Amino acid sequence: MEKKNLDWSNLGFGYIKTDKRFVANYKDGAWDDGVITDDDKVVISECAGVLQYAQTCFEGMKAYTTQDGHVVIFRPDMNAERMANSCRRLEMPVYPEDKFVDAVAKVVKENDAWVPPYGSGATLYIRPYMFGSNPVIGVKPADEYQFRVFVTPVGPYFKGGAKPLTIKVSDFDRAAPHGTGHIKAGLNYAMSLHAIVTAHEEGYAENMYLDPATRTKVEETGGANFLFITKDGKVVTPKSDSILPSITRRSLVYVAKEYLGLEVEEREVLFDEVKDFAECGLCGTAAVISPVGKIVNHGEEICLPSGMEKMGPTIQKLYDTLTGIQMGTIEAPEGWIYKVE
Ligand SMILES: *Cc1c(COP(=O)(O)O)cnc(C)c1O
Repeated sequence: MEKKNLDWSNLGFGYIKTDKRFVANYKDGAWDDGVITDDDKVVISECAGVLQYAQTCFEGMKAYTTQDGHVVIFRPDMNAERMANSCRRLEMPVYPEDKFVDAVAKVVKENDAWVPPYGSGATLYIRPYMFGSNPVIGVKPADEYQFRVFVTPVGPYFKGGAKPLTIKVSDFDRAAPHGTGHIKAGLNYAMSLHAIVTAHEEGYAENMYLDPATRTKVEETGGANFLFITKDGKVVTPKSDSILPSITRRSLVYVAKEYLGLEVEEREVLFDEVKDFAECGLCGTAAVISPVGKIVNHGEEICLPSGMEKMGPTIQKLYDTLTGIQMGTIEAPEGWIYKVE
């Protein structure tokens, strides 16, 4: 299919309406077969469960054009599994994991003309989501749901190279102990908006959230997990029940161990330890891994030895290896790359 005439290298991270999307409906205890449609509009009751009590969850992943011209999706089965977990926690019906992967692949294939070409730096962002669609006024789960998947081409996260970020320790909490921090629910984002707007106004790129119970341990940012590198080259990543289990972070941990031969510790990370690390990065689908150069805690600055000019050497290696695997220039572990035929 002929590619759309877009300026691929100058795309931002925004929504562009593409041609096709997938829609399935849940009613009377069962999912229908779902359809591919041109219709980008959602029509639901004014009293829909999602609008009243925020019963909704989502996923995010990417499709790429590899060096040899295939369109591939990175680990969609992991997103299917995570969305199933989000649904269970929100009393929503699971969309079957194999059908989730099929729907995602179908939408990518139907929008082939929108998949950015190899080497452009751009990728096709995939957004599956589900919401309660029937009227709900007493507080309870909806009876009817809609599952949708759309795609939108997005630009390279790092225009002109990855400059290290300055972030702040937030005075707000992202997730409660025993709450919903570990699932990809829209409600976690709604309550983080004030914190991120505040951080931006103060000139910071992101928030570092601490554990809400003791405020002594590192959790994550609003949309990315932390990876730290110790001065002797170990990878350390926070472990907590209220962190969203990033697929990028779990992939980087595997890459660190199996491709780079690094030692990895997944454990509680005290904020007091942060000043001793050599490098720090934020990992998620959008950026893969973004370097952090400075962390500010109420005016007190922690400057990572990797500095404010470029990624530290270990984070650079992790970045190069994972993006190589995604783009098909480095051999991928079994099952990581889903080819869209
Ligand atoms: C989506 C998300 C991430 C990143 O997860 P990936 O699977 O790597 O994209 C990290 N933290 C939060 C809170 C998220 O919602």
